[in-house]
Order: sequence, then C-alpha cells, then structure tokens
Amino acid sequence: MEQVKILIDLQEVMCQARRLEEEKQKIPLEVADLKSLFEEREATFLAAEQEFETLKQQRREKEREIEEERDKVERAKAKLMSIKTNKEYYAMLKEIEGTRRTNVAREEELLSLLVRYEEAEKRLAERKADLDEVSGKYRERRVDIDARMGTYDDDIGKLDARRRQVASKLDPSLVRRFEMIFERRDGLAVVAARNYSCTGCHMNIAPQLFNLLQREDRIHTCPNCNRVVYYEATEIEAAGE
Ligand SMILES: [Zn+2]
Repeated sequence: MEQVKILIDLQEVMCQARRLEEEKQKIPLEVADLKSLFEEREATFLAAEQEFETLKQQRREKEREIEEERDKVERAKAKLMSIKTNKEYYAMLKEIEGTRRTNVAREEELLSLLVRYEEAEKRLAERKADLDEVSGKYRERRVDIDARMGTYDDDIGKLDARRRQVASKLDPSLVRRFEMIFERRDGLAVVAARNYSCTGCHMNIAPQLFNLLQREDRIHTCPNCNRVVYYEATEIEAAGE
C-alpha cells in the first residue's frame, strides 16, 4: 500500500494545483466588462482625437492660404506704383480684386471650419473625461487582479514543488503513467476498489484481481478505466476483521 499512499498524496497535490489554476483562469473574467467598456471609450476618444487633429490641420492650412494670398495682394499693391501703362495697371487691379474675392470665400470656409473645430475640441474634452473615468477604475481593478494572480502563482509554485517532492519517492515511469491517467480521467487517477467494483468507473473487478489487490503491494489498474485501484475494506469487512 506504500506506493498507493504516495499516489493518493500526489493526486491530492495535483488536484489542489489544478483547482487553483482553474480559479486563476477565472479572475480575468471578473474585469472583462470593465475592459470592454474601457476599450470602447478608448476607441471613441481616439476617433474624437483624430477628428480634432484633422480639423486643426485643415484650419492651419486655411489660415496659411489666407495669409499667403494677403501677402500676394500687398505685394501686388506695391507693384502698382511702378507700373507704366494703363493696360498693365488695370490687369493688375483685376488680379488683386480676384485674389481678394477668393480670400473672402476662404475666410468663410475658415469660419465654418472654426465652428467645427470648436465643437470637435469640446467633444474631445468630453471623451477624454469619459475615458479617464473608466480607465481609472480599470487600472485600479487591474492592480488588484495582478496582485491576486501573483498570489495564485506563488501558491501554485509551492504545490508544484510539493508535487515534485512527492513524485521523487516513486519510479519516474510510474509517475509519468499516473500523470497521463490523471489528465485523461479528469483528475481522478487513483481510486478505491470496494465490493469487487472500481469506485472510479463502477465496473466489476474480477475476483482474481480483487484478491491480488488485497494481498499485494503492487500497482494494479482497473481493466475498464485504467485508473490505479487499491483495496479498501467495506464497513462490513472491516467490522469482521
Ligand atoms: Zn475503473
């Protein structure tokens, strides 16, 4: 029974580690809602920021164009003085007038751009406030969760060391076989055999095997589910002894 006792210990340690692992996996789900809200707000903010930057760019561009055209008018006016012929003079005046008219249209465009720019600026500030609100909460929760994940990692690490220590008392090939059964049988790899049946799969165990289990300190497996089985006296048998 010595080996079986060690296997039972091993199973217990592996089960604890598996439970902790499962609990740890669930933790990030606790913030999934907050995370998606944060991502949504972040995307909205980024879109507002992009819109604002585009308008800022357009505004600068428009202001620059107007400035350039104004300079052009000023330069043309200065040139008027040195013009000798009437024909050239009127041509120049016409050109100045044309530039001025274009600039009036540009200034109107600039005005409507400014309205949109200011709206976008306001929207950006609102989106930023929304984002800050959620990201603050999200950050706090993340810190908390990281701490809890760290605790789980520590505990799992301790169990892992314990598992290696228990396993070192057994033949490595038995440990490998046991771990394989543990995975396939969902964490239940060593079970009692009672009343000629396996308590893992509830199938009958042939009397010959059952007798061996009672007598031998050897590892036997259930022919049906392959779990390691060990003899366990029923209450009636135990009372009779
Ligand atoms: Zn079985």
